[in-house]
Amino acid sequence: MSAHYQLHGDLAVITLDNPPVNGLGLATRVAAAQALQQAQDDSTVRAIVLTGAGKAFSGGADIKEFGSPKALAEPNLLSLILACENANKPVVAALHSVAMGGGLELALGCHYRIAAPGCTVALPEVKLGLIPGAGGTQRLPRALGVEAALNMIVSGEPVKSELLMHVPGQKLFDRLASAPDKLMDEALALAREVADVRPLPKVRDLPCRHPQGDAYFQFARNMVKGMAKNYPAPAKCVDAVEAATQKKFDEGMLFEREIFINLMWTPECRALRHLFAAERAASKIPDVPEDTPKRSVQSLAVIGAGTMGGGISMNFLNAGIPVTMLEMKQDALDRGVATIRKNYEAQVKKGKLKPEKYEERMALLKTTLSYEDIGQADMVIEAVFEEMGVKQKVFAELDRVMKPGAILASNTSTLDLNQIASFTQRPQDVIGTHFFSPANVMKLLEVVRGEKTAKDVLATVMALGKKIKKTAVVSGVCDGFIGNRMIEQYARQAGFLLDEGCTPAQVDRALEKFGFAMGPFRMGDLAGNDIGWAIRKRRTVEKPDLRYSKTADLLCELGRYGQKTGAGWYDYQAGKRDAIPSALVEQMVEQHRTSLGITPRKVSDEEIVQRLVFSLVNEAAHILEEGIASRPGDIDMVYLTGYGFPIWRGGPMMYADTVGLYNVVQAMQRFAKNPLDDASFWQPAPLLARLVAEGKTFNNV
Ligand code: NAD
Repeated sequence: MSAHYQLHGDLAVITLDNPPVNGLGLATRVAAAQALQQAQDDSTVRAIVLTGAGKAFSGGADIKEFGSPKALAEPNLLSLILACENANKPVVAALHSVAMGGGLELALGCHYRIAAPGCTVALPEVKLGLIPGAGGTQRLPRALGVEAALNMIVSGEPVKSELLMHVPGQKLFDRLASAPDKLMDEALALAREVADVRPLPKVRDLPCRHPQGDAYFQFARNMVKGMAKNYPAPAKCVDAVEAATQKKFDEGMLFEREIFINLMWTPECRALRHLFAAERAASKIPDVPEDTPKRSVQSLAVIGAGTMGGGISMNFLNAGIPVTMLEMKQDALDRGVATIRKNYEAQVKKGKLKPEKYEERMALLKTTLSYEDIGQADMVIEAVFEEMGVKQKVFAELDRVMKPGAILASNTSTLDLNQIASFTQRPQDVIGTHFFSPANVMKLLEVVRGEKTAKDVLATVMALGKKIKKTAVVSGVCDGFIGNRMIEQYARQAGFLLDEGCTPAQVDRALEKFGFAMGPFRMGDLAGNDIGWAIRKRRTVEKPDLRYSKTADLLCELGRYGQKTGAGWYDYQAGKRDAIPSALVEQMVEQHRTSLGITPRKVSDEEIVQRLVFSLVNEAAHILEEGIASRPGDIDMVYLTGYGFPIWRGGPMMYADTVGLYNVVQAMQRFAKNPLDDASFWQPAPLLARLVAEGKTFNNV
């Protein structure tokens, strides 16, 4: 049962009840439509109140039904809204907590609306690459006024009910309840008051005009074009709202529907829906049930107050969790604390953080030089130098001092977590928390599951990831985990391209045109080219035959580590981040090319993009097959949230599916014939080859 029916004297109350947010899936729609009919059939009922149980009026359409026949099955959302609008007795929507998307559209189909203060109202469809598809673009401008409605529809941003009450001339809410817990009493009173009023007021009958007409919509279109860049939906929101001012209501509804259906199949919309679903799926771990008991984490210790330790600490301070940072020397602690202060002060200056919040957060931070002071922490995250010897010493100490049951996490980016766990007597409590730099900003958190990591430790850290507002993705243990293991292949391809005739700027431009936030060379300059250098030194010992371009080593030999040394693949002016192509680097690349006897060739942007992106795809297919990642969507999440992969392309796996895996493999076979590339790498990963042979996509995995 996903909607209840109850009589309150001569009033009927219909309560949507489909936890967690009363999504309007088929079962809920059926139950609501039946209840509506029951109320109309009962001659003792004079008016109807529609509300939602628990934490929402309604969060909107059930996204799981998108694109499935269930979404269209009757009563679909449009029919349910019409049933409310055409009811022969007044229907009063009583909104509280959350009224979003289809939920708000349903309320707009009711004759009256009363909202609790603090109710979050939004039409967020644009964030999924869509426009509202159940009358939102036609009814909201009539109820709220064209400008306020368009702002909500184009941005998808939530607004509080009490703010909307102030919009001049608004008819969205007939009343604001005096307090959230008074909503139902006041909704019933309103229903009683209007029970005999006829004709029944309908939003569709309200006038819809903007005083500046065309000029206003032209202005809106220009604004949206500048902001929306690669997404078609925002401009379509403007078209649909304009139609509300120009067309008859029913024609406007058809216009909205047509746009909605066309957008549904754009790659951008598919990518955004994929992202939405993948983010939710990433928090589910196949063999760790959702009800796995979690350990309580009320306090944290962080070992190492360097670049990562400081950023990691900030995440927890922001979430109200006390942190103790431990270092070897007082001056390292002082530097770490000063950096945290500087970051918070910058936020205060920009008005993003209230001064009292800043003080509150700093009050949660303690420092120490002694392990004895951290033993009672519920969890500890190690962020010391990336050397196994140092990690060994630290974990032996942690094993000695930490209370039983404490979670011992390492932020290592490349070292073997299983070996780190073996330095303790409690490998089941050891886990990897791989944050990305700057750790207080970047959304991605790779949660590294060791061979012996206990399920409750994993479940706890995943939940904690959510609490500190990260996108947590589980990775198995391997060199580089999911993200960096793939990026190594991408960087290798970027190097080959320099040898073959490209400049760093040309490669970066091609990738940035594809939509990456930054091309590989600008990214190297930001992260520090010395990091890759250290990894390559290790690789040449492990795999002496591994082919890679030596240009990056030559660059590091010149001390050009990137922005931090004022020079890298590009030149930088003091204090600025603008990457200026460097004549010296281009000369260095050319000389190296000549020394190898290579005649440069012109490489197309298409080839640049394909080689870099498909190298990610092939490595990812190995990662999937080895079980390092549980699903393709997890890999997409890693790339979308940690590596600047263009969101509207949905991540490397979804992009490969869109191109067609057959085409991906064909391209890889072409690259394998290039004598300056690494033919063995371009052998399609077995999983990829299998999917192509079976005519499948990653989405089927
Ligand atoms: P960093 O050099 O900035 O900081 C390391 C800190 O650890 C220093 O302040 C040092 O004094 C302290 N330290 C060293 N040995 C210690 C010990 N025995 N006890 C207590 N403190 C000790 O390094 P970082 O960039 O913050 O990296 C830390 C860890 O995070 C490494 O494992 C690194 O691989 C990983 N990581 C770094 C990045 C990055 O972009 N910098 C990203 C992800 C992960």
